[in-house]
Amino acid sequence: MAQLLDGRVYSEEALQEIKVQVQELKNQGVTPGLAVILVGEDPASQTYVRNKGKACEKTGIYSRTIILPAQTTQAELEKLIRELNDDKQIDGILVQLPLPDGLDEARALACIRPEKDADGFHAVNAGNLMLGQPGTLPCTPKGVIRMLKLAGVEMDGKHAVVVGRSNIVGKPAALLLLRENATVTIAHSHTKDLGDITRQADILVVAAGKPGLITGDMVKPGAAVVDVGINRINGRLSGDVDFTSVDPVAGWLSPVPGGVGLMTVAMLMDNVVALARARAEKKA
Ligand code: NDP
Repeated sequence: MAQLLDGRVYSEEALQEIKVQVQELKNQGVTPGLAVILVGEDPASQTYVRNKGKACEKTGIYSRTIILPAQTTQAELEKLIRELNDDKQIDGILVQLPLPDGLDEARALACIRPEKDADGFHAVNAGNLMLGQPGTLPCTPKGVIRMLKLAGVEMDGKHAVVVGRSNIVGKPAALLLLRENATVTIAHSHTKDLGDITRQADILVVAAGKPGLITGDMVKPGAAVVDVGINRINGRLSGDVDFTSVDPVAGWLSPVPGGVGLMTVAMLMDNVVALARARAEKKA
């Protein structure tokens, strides 16, 4: 049986630390603030936004959720983002993705000032990650690395395989694993014989959005398997990893739900605190 990479425990630990840091900032007269913009009524997005608000409450971060109708125009959305860019109460701005059809995500994200980019999706922050410069990191890959570190999984010199190459999970996860001195392979939908590649992984991060894609026969015995996938099947959440067949083979395994999703929210809080700290340092 694999050791559980328990997002509940690790995220709770992270949130408690963040709560202390928020209080320290408040003592210096700086209250960290997050603005979350939700456009439309996608039920999964509504849940994510609610969870982010709850984490703000728990840590003492000021949060403002702005809900816009699905018919919102690009110009209206960008005007709102620009107002938040200039809003002194707000350190981090997050536009909940996906946006409804007709709205341009890339253009909306580009409107967020990089110093207020809570999600780390702005091209400047993506570029900083690529170059190994300081900047805001995307929350999910950051949460994956935090989880592996807290579990004591060695990354240096290990072979890490990332399944998925999206800008928000796969690519940044690969870059962060590289930063930890892992040897990194990225697999995607054109990869031939996925199992051949995943069986070589000491660390396997799966972010494909395909339920049950990874089965026990595709995993190296003792590997650390991190399941990023969130799939809704008949109202129930499941990951990209077939937990039942992988559990007896892997050394570590993250569950869905109760895994990376919780780390993602905790790392968002971490990002907002870092942005607020930068404001406090400017003020000093
Ligand atoms: P995308 O759809 O943007 O990317 C999926 C990636 O998986 C693509 O690169 C795609 O390849 C690859 N892929 C798809 N099918 C296969 C396959 N059969 N074999 C190998 N690779 C495949 O998704 P995201 O990166 O945004 O999200 C991935 C998953 O993670 C989703 O389930 C999402 O809900 C979840 N997620 C979870 C978060 C959390 O907090 N836990 C946060 C964000 C996302 P190609 O590029 O060739 O199309």
